[in-house]
Amino acid sequence: MSTICAVSTPLAEGGLAVIRMSGSKALEYAGKLFRPFGGKAVSDMPGYTCAYGKVIDPDSGETVDDAVLTVFRAPASYTGEDTAEISCHGGIYIAKRILRLCLRCGCDQADRGEFTKRAFLNGKLSLTQAESVMDMISARGEYSLRSARLTREGRLAGRIDGIKQKLVTLLGELAAWVDYPEEDLPAVEDTALRSSLSEAASELSRILKDYDCGMVLRTGIDTVIAGKPNVGKSTLMNTLLGYERSIVTEAAGTTRDVIEETARLGELELRLSDTAGLRETEDRVEKLGVSLAKKRISECALVIAVFDTSCELDPEDRELLALLRELGKKHIIVLNKSDLGAAADRSEFEGTGARILELSAKNGEGLAELTEAVSELFGADTYDADSTVFANERQKRCAEKAYDKLTEALGAAELGETLDAVTVLIDSAVGDLMELTGEKATEAVVDEVFSKFCVGK
Ligand code: GDP
Repeated sequence: MSTICAVSTPLAEGGLAVIRMSGSKALEYAGKLFRPFGGKAVSDMPGYTCAYGKVIDPDSGETVDDAVLTVFRAPASYTGEDTAEISCHGGIYIAKRILRLCLRCGCDQADRGEFTKRAFLNGKLSLTQAESVMDMISARGEYSLRSARLTREGRLAGRIDGIKQKLVTLLGELAAWVDYPEEDLPAVEDTALRSSLSEAASELSRILKDYDCGMVLRTGIDTVIAGKPNVGKSTLMNTLLGYERSIVTEAAGTTRDVIEETARLGELELRLSDTAGLRETEDRVEKLGVSLAKKRISECALVIAVFDTSCELDPEDRELLALLRELGKKHIIVLNKSDLGAAADRSEFEGTGARILELSAKNGEGLAELTEAVSELFGADTYDADSTVFANERQKRCAEKAYDKLTEALGAAELGETLDAVTVLIDSAVGDLMELTGEKATEAVVDEVFSKFCVGK
């Protein structure tokens, strides 16, 4: 396999940049372009040691930068291969120049995710762990980092492997029973078979259920703040975001566009958009905003429906309530401007099953209740951050396929179908689980996974 190199830090100005080389010739190439101060040779450096020295252009002998070289020796490195990392000054030009020197010494430019792909191919990581490396890099909050870290530590692979092992044992018993009926082997008890199958299926379904909540914690909740003009949507949005994002004015219908921003609400992240009201309008620009608002409401995961509690409800408010009832979306009803006193009849809001909260977007009163309501609605309050969740749709799909086959096998066993038929289904479910962890992933799946990485990782 070739020796690859890439700049592993972002190409931006910073304190440091790291250029990484990995492969059987990494240390040989590093020796060509790096000279440790004190005269030691790179080839004599043991693994897990570093040296301070200078990066030189091997052709001209010119010094390019002072840097630190870190040496890892196979198999004790991230990729499992010999690896050299040059930490130089964090300039875009310096990093690119050193990268060019590595290429000139004989390295190939690494593909996207190639370091991690090699780690996978060398058995340093399972496919799920490799995917979690990407998640850790893109994690934006404590929850997502934590769940990615647990996956990286092998929690998910371990749990899936546990299910798989049980199924494989079951397959062994079934095969022996089917193939050697004349031997005096203990029969696979019908009830034992069914209980093993249903145990494996319910374990998978537990992991699948956690996924949806995990997804919310990881990527944030796609949220729309809806309501007629002037109820305080922009003010609420600004309060949630903590700064003036849209211009709040007293004239109705000023928020014409859909504005999108991300706000943190406790441990949750809301991807917020503030939409125009739903009222039919003659104004062409506003009409556009109105249809956009309806579309956004039908697509989003959460609607924060805002009403002005200091006024009585009007037809437009009722239209929004009707829409929420019709769509069955997760939503929270916010009775805004609570500081002005209530005039609206609270009973009108009941019947959608949603939490009704009084709030003052202007002074922030009631925000804690809003945070709590959102968290409750998405199960984040009872979500176990230590639970193992799938990192992505690929893993989820594999688990779903396995789950479907196990339920089918269970049904077949209950109907008294041949053990052969049941065996085929269990076998296929085991295949799906092995695809999930990467033990049996096709090259196409592996390529697909790593193509999502950035270069240098
Ligand atoms: P939008 O059209 O729904 O986005 O409404 P805005 O956020 O532009 O607010 C309309 C008006 O209501 C502005 O004058 C705000 O200052 C005012 N407003 C918004 N929230 C509150 C609140 O909680 N209390 C009071 N007293 N006024 C508010």
